[in-house]
Amino acid sequence: MAIGRRNQPQMQAATEAVAAVPSAPPAAAKKPVRTKMMRQYDLVDRVRAYNPNTDEDLLNRAYVYAMMAHGEQKRASGDPYFSHPLEVAAILTNLKLDDATIVAALLHDTIEDTESTRAEIDQMFGSEIGALVEGLTKLKRLELVSREAKQAENLRKLLLAISDDVRVLLVKLADRLHNMRTMEFMPPASRRRIAEETLDIYAPLAGRMGMQEMREELEDLSFRIIDPDAHAVVVQRLDALEARDKNLIGEIEAQLSAKLAKNGVNAHVKGRRKQPFSIWMKMERKSVGFEQLSDIFGFRIIVNSIAEVYRTVGIVHTTWPVVPGRFKDYISTPKQNDYRSIHTTVIGPGKQRVELQIRTEEMDRVNEYGIAAHAFYKDGVGSPTERLEKESNAFAWLRHTVEVLSESANPEEFLEHTKMELFHDQVFCFTPKGKLIALPRHANVIDFAYAVHTDVGNSAVGCKINGKFAPLSSELQNGDEVEVLTSQAQSAPPSAWESLAVTGKARAAIRRATRTAVRDQYAGLGRRIVERLFMRAKIAYADDKLKGALPRLARVSIDDVMAAVGRGEMKASDVARAMYPDYKEEARLSSKKSGAAANPKSAADTKTSGAIPIRGINSDLPVKFAPNGGAVPGDRIVGIVTPGEGITIYPIQSPALKDFEEEPERWLDVRWDTDEATPRRFPARLHVQNVNEPGSLAQVASVIAEHDGNIDNINMSRRSPDFTDLIIDLEVYDLKHLNGIIAQLRAKAVVASVDRING
Ligand code: MN
Repeated sequence: MAIGRRNQPQMQAATEAVAAVPSAPPAAAKKPVRTKMMRQYDLVDRVRAYNPNTDEDLLNRAYVYAMMAHGEQKRASGDPYFSHPLEVAAILTNLKLDDATIVAALLHDTIEDTESTRAEIDQMFGSEIGALVEGLTKLKRLELVSREAKQAENLRKLLLAISDDVRVLLVKLADRLHNMRTMEFMPPASRRRIAEETLDIYAPLAGRMGMQEMREELEDLSFRIIDPDAHAVVVQRLDALEARDKNLIGEIEAQLSAKLAKNGVNAHVKGRRKQPFSIWMKMERKSVGFEQLSDIFGFRIIVNSIAEVYRTVGIVHTTWPVVPGRFKDYISTPKQNDYRSIHTTVIGPGKQRVELQIRTEEMDRVNEYGIAAHAFYKDGVGSPTERLEKESNAFAWLRHTVEVLSESANPEEFLEHTKMELFHDQVFCFTPKGKLIALPRHANVIDFAYAVHTDVGNSAVGCKINGKFAPLSSELQNGDEVEVLTSQAQSAPPSAWESLAVTGKARAAIRRATRTAVRDQYAGLGRRIVERLFMRAKIAYADDKLKGALPRLARVSIDDVMAAVGRGEMKASDVARAMYPDYKEEARLSSKKSGAAANPKSAADTKTSGAIPIRGINSDLPVKFAPNGGAVPGDRIVGIVTPGEGITIYPIQSPALKDFEEEPERWLDVRWDTDEATPRRFPARLHVQNVNEPGSLAQVASVIAEHDGNIDNINMSRRSPDFTDLIIDLEVYDLKHLNGIIAQLRAKAVVASVDRING
């Protein structure tokens, strides 16, 4: 088992008078394994190895100072507390950081947890280090109150602190990494909270700052805590694939090296398997199975110069067939976090898809270590922060984003921006007057319009991007100048925009503006229901007559009445009774007669389904799920009105909806209204193709059961000697739950494919 093997480096380290190797994966053992502390000279040796000019005296003084300050304090593991700042410092030596950062790491918990003061640290180590330690102390205090809903404000402070001196972030990330590595000693509840915060904030921040290695380890450690089952499945499967393809990887490495050497390129080729977390995200997000993931292994080709990078591309592309659409040149256009590389995929040796990353050594270093790769040695000009601002796009971006975001006064708005947008790439666009509008990547002109002003969004009818007419759904690129064309004739935006918009701000505004339009839709539906009832009862309907009955219905307008009927808040028969007090008996008679003849499924035998939590429709209108496949919260859904029967809920991707394309008046805009406090199950259907093997059905069933899915029914048919088709009806809580089960099924070797069926 992978866990056991992973434990070994730590056990070994413990018996060898050296501290745990910082790059070693975390111990997963349940019982405490104490690690011996790194000695003073070990730390100095590590720093001297990459920085011959290190101030050894400074390091030694900091080591002793922190050790004395923490004194008898213990960690949850029982280790002396001092082992923690020491390991944090060790992690930073792997990033080859300057003395001030290493010392700040040693001292990072002193002000908060010991008698030490800023003044004392300033006096002993200088104000540069004092400021770093104080920055870290502020972050630590932030963390202690962060459960108190002040998350937005805290995040803002975090970003401000790290944009002052990015070394604060580097120590903070190392601090978090060491805490994550030693998490097994924490109570399970805080373990989960810390892991979620790490996955939400610290891992993306590390990635945004270009520190891939740090990001990957933080993600992997969090993933293991948040979803241990999924983590184990992925690792197990990766191990199996690696064992199977072991020779192939070596062979591909050898063939690539040989081919390049023959053409005079001296390259270092390395096969590398992807991280469990990124594979899992792909399986969940793109809904693909293990077998369909072509890129479980990637190959890096490291060469000496940019010229050689492009020569290598030429050699590779003329030797093996290229997979179209996979070539990306991040050298001519680096990513915003300074990542530079060529990506391409070829059908390589053994007819295998081979994903290649081609880059120079310098690029490789920046790609792995990000901002930390911009050395902080003293021989540069200006302060580290000033130099970094010039050298690193990632840092310049951080500074800029903090500026843009600190202008937004509303904390919720800030949080939304930060969580949803800060950690993804942004695009910066301009109004014709030159005002900067920052939007998340993939935002379109609709988002832009609402970012300028809600009124501009609501009345937008067209646009010009860089002077050319373009559709409002056009995705924006950095530097685009966008002119939004508006029309006062448009009072509300089309409701379809809500799904086109990317930003929360635009979506909320569209929802608000279309609420009126939705109300009209309900009024229209209500009117149809009322008119139908009057027709059946053979009574004349007239608006004037209803107007007179409004007080009796406690409504102010005819539209109000109709919308109430459309929403199911009022029965059509109530309306009839309000208009014709003697309506009741007549209606019963006539509905009995005509109902039995024309409509065998009368209202009486259709199940009332107030149980289905759809917003805006209550139990008076029968609601049911599409018969084949159902729908689950998280699906975008529509309701189809069937006169005399009620409303059937279909997921938007259901092919059955084609049948209703010609009848738009039957389509109803509906939304889930589930209550998180009382989780419920919803029907879904899967098509699973199983390899015929003893026990394979049992494996499928137990995966579903283990992941809390209720199986309602299984239909089996054997199409070939090799495969069995299973149609499984099951009940799940929501789309995420369903997708999790699908991903777990796909991870099983006996499962060839899994697809959701929508009837
Ligand atoms: Mn700490």
